Amino acid sequence: MRRPALLAAAIALATAVTGTMVTPAPAAPAQATAAGAAEWNPPAHLSAALDRVWQHQEDTYGNLYGFRNYIWDQLIAARGSINYCVRWDSSAPVSAALRDQIEVKLGQQFNKWIAAMAGFDGFPYTYVPVNVVGWAVRDRNTLQWTDDSVDVYVGDIRENAPQCAEPCGRFFNQNGQYPNCPGGYAHHYDMSLWLTAGMGGGAGGDWGQRVGSEYFVNSINQENQHILLHEIGHGLGLDDFYDWDPGVGGFLMKAGSATMITEFDTWMARDWWRHLKSRYGL
Ligand SMILES: [Zn+2]
Repeated sequence: MRRPALLAAAIALATAVTGTMVTPAPAAPAQATAAGAAEWNPPAHLSAALDRVWQHQEDTYGNLYGFRNYIWDQLIAARGSINYCVRWDSSAPVSAALRDQIEVKLGQQFNKWIAAMAGFDGFPYTYVPVNVVGWAVRDRNTLQWTDDSVDVYVGDIRENAPQCAEPCGRFFNQNGQYPNCPGGYAHHYDMSLWLTAGMGGGAGGDWGQRVGSEYFVNSINQENQHILLHEIGHGLGLDDFYDWDPGVGGFLMKAGSATMITEFDTWMARDWWRHLKSRYGL
């Protein structure tokens, strides 16, 4: 998809400063009784910039309203959970413990975006289970477990990297049906977490997120894996800001200017939801 968006890791790591406060969701109006009642009421100092961002996306995205594989679409199709498959493009061994840590960490990072959405304008989820259902490798011996808790794909190469079975991947089956996926729907994956040895920066899209395998492992105890968070943001539709300035600074999607989801990132994500939600008939 669009937004291959290479993020300059050196810049990103060097500058993390302004505007990194995470603002909780605004309180719902007093009369609201149900979660999801809070509507579009961004802070005044962000409103004009948010309008500019949406206009810029409308002007520059080829198929903004027709595209139907945003993470929003994936979430609704899977009724509030997300399955991943890991593309382990590395010869470094992976223990069962590391495998399980990666799943937990990925879920934590994914849910930072969900937390930014919870309670906003009918968004139906406050927490999304993230399940890693498969691993793809070049050599089975790289994976140091013998249990069958995840599917393992060996030697299926695409883009010069191991991939999980295409019949099980949503990117290849965007109608959400997986008739040729061994094991059926429970073994499908919505996105890939593509971990590449020696890679700096990242890439993200509807297909998933790609970051360095060393980056992921070495930052596994950090609260915010900001490159991964940024790339998940692309899956939600959010843009890059390498070539223009919306008039505010210091936010995650402006690579190198923040290391966590900020108030501005939160409102950009909410803008996507409010523009797309009618397609779900909720
Ligand atoms: Zn980017």
